[in-house]
Amino acid sequence: MIKTVGVVGAGQMGNGISHVFALHNYKVIMYDISDAQLDKALKTIEKNLGRQLKSGVIKEEQIKQTLDNIKPTTDLNDLADVDFCVEAAPENEEIKKDLFKKLDEIVKKDTILASNTSSISITMLSAQTNRPDKVIGMHFMNPVPVMKLVEVIRGLATSEETYNTVLELARSLEKDPALAKDYPGFIVNRILIPMINEAICVLYEGIATKEDIDKGMKLGTNQPMGPLVLADFIGLDTVLAIQNVLYEGFKDPKFRPCPLLVKMVEAGRLGRKVGKGFYDYT
Ligand code: NAD
Repeated sequence: MIKTVGVVGAGQMGNGISHVFALHNYKVIMYDISDAQLDKALKTIEKNLGRQLKSGVIKEEQIKQTLDNIKPTTDLNDLADVDFCVEAAPENEEIKKDLFKKLDEIVKKDTILASNTSSISITMLSAQTNRPDKVIGMHFMNPVPVMKLVEVIRGLATSEETYNTVLELARSLEKDPALAKDYPGFIVNRILIPMINEAICVLYEGIATKEDIDKGMKLGTNQPMGPLVLADFIGLDTVLAIQNVLYEGFKDPKFRPCPLLVKMVEAGRLGRKVGKGFYDYT
């Protein structure tokens, strides 16, 4: 029975994941290396709960209940007693490998270790642990409190029991899971990120302005936002990291990251989270 959940990394995704678990009455231990990020995450959760109240999705009393269910910490050892753990640290192989090694030593032996990675191999992360059958991908979409989909990714060693537990867990959060095998980008990012990368190439080649690229895709293909707005929303560092995983994973030049995307990340224009990406949010 899963009652207490560890969330590792309290950034854009980690705060959303903590929010939905806490809202659905799980106790959440929210870990980050930075106190400032934890404070920011709690403020974001409170703000987003306020939005949900306004739109009639939740009731007033659920705000306090949800916030009371979340315990922030910068000590990974505080996750020792969690029944389930989901990692949402930066999309960096070394950081995630290190976390899976440490978590494997810290948490109870039956605890499932999930990763919210957008593209890194679940099988490779599972091999850092002594419980590869209990390692799985649980890939939430951004913004987590709003988006219905969760991709569930089975690594080579993930057991049927782990898979079924995580399906049930996703449904208990009122999410609708889709199953993917463990290959780079899984379903959504295998298709979405090359589309965004191509939009950046269209801008790079001077074929159209950013506004017209976004308008073209928004009005022409009925997407709720254009690909460059979406790139700013996801974070350009994350977009580049995923594109690189596809490029390395398939060794296929069709996944080459656009030089402009690389340049934007070098410039620190990472999108909405820093106030500037393709568009200015300051
Ligand atoms: P983010 O940069 O907003 O947050 C990452 C957080 O991890 C930060 O708060 C940082 O302080 C913390 N961190 C850094 N090193 C850490 C460590 N060693 N241990 C614990 N925490 C650490 O990133 P994000 O957008 O929330 O992405 C997190 C994960 O979710 C990535 O794997 C990403 O691919 C995936 N993801 C992102 C999106 C998206 O739209 N941004 C969507 C789905 C999945």
